[in-house]
Amino acid sequence: MSEPSVRVLRTVAEFRAACDAVRSRGERLGFVPTMGALHAGHLRLVEAARRHADRVAVSIFVNPTQFGPNEDFSKYPRTLERDVALLAGVGADLVLSPSADEMYPAGDTTRVRVGELSEHFCGPFRPGHFEGVATVVTKLFAIAGPCTALFGRKDFQQLKIIERLARDLRLPVTVVGEPTVRDADGLALSSRNAYLSADERSRALAIPRALAGAAERFDAGVRRAAELIEPVRAALSAAGLRPDYADIADPERLFPFALDATVGERALIALAAFCGTTRLIDNLVLGEDPAPAVSG
Ligand code: AMP
Repeated sequence: MSEPSVRVLRTVAEFRAACDAVRSRGERLGFVPTMGALHAGHLRLVEAARRHADRVAVSIFVNPTQFGPNEDFSKYPRTLERDVALLAGVGADLVLSPSADEMYPAGDTTRVRVGELSEHFCGPFRPGHFEGVATVVTKLFAIAGPCTALFGRKDFQQLKIIERLARDLRLPVTVVGEPTVRDADGLALSSRNAYLSADERSRALAIPRALAGAAERFDAGVRRAAELIEPVRAALSAAGLRPDYADIADPERLFPFALDATVGERALIALAAFCGTTRLIDNLVLGEDPAPAVSG
């Protein structure tokens, strides 16, 4: 059997024409934006896209505007050949792999800012990050055209921001969020896990364990914000992780609950923590997401 073929396109014009051609045949387009260095979490999004659509397009673009000056833009893993082979294996049809100049033409100054959803969690710690994300996703949506776009709940704040920008800008895109894919030991898959040493990798397991603990307390009826979030913070510190934040919030507005508040039937726990020099994020919507299955 011959390997299924994926068309890799380098320019906006070629990708737009290929997406238009899908729709002109009366087929539905699914779209999965990524930064590459693909893992099973990304591939799950492609598989989900195939359930929503007839053809699937994937973009692979390490977007410079969403990285801060001291972040990992230059060392972010770039593995295009391997990524394309993986995408062929899960039945993707089109790949956009553009240069930075192609996405940001000379003199580009337009930026997309979503507002309050960017104000908490990662927002204050990564100034300009969500503006960079919102800008590149808006460009990608404008290029792909009408489609169903799939994003991971692993980046829950990003998902909410993208849902909002698609709604506010009246873009012809249906945004769908898919569950976080985790390794067998519970750690959420991330392209950045490749930076972790063996010791860091095992200390990082404090993250899914802390989330599983919060889910257990929630399921046992605990609703006081402090009792849900404080043990999470303590567990991260005890494992030698350095949290930027670990907060509990309303899952729609992303507005943190005060520690003495009583949370409702759904509550988002989201955290970002450094393990060595690697910044990891994770989250769980209590009352909605299954608790991470953790080993040990
Ligand atoms: P990235 O390449 O990190 O920008 O991620 C591209 C897409 O894959 C985003 O929608 C992410 O939320 C999603 N994604 C990344 N990691 C996971 C994961 N472990 N489970 C589910 N989706 C993920």
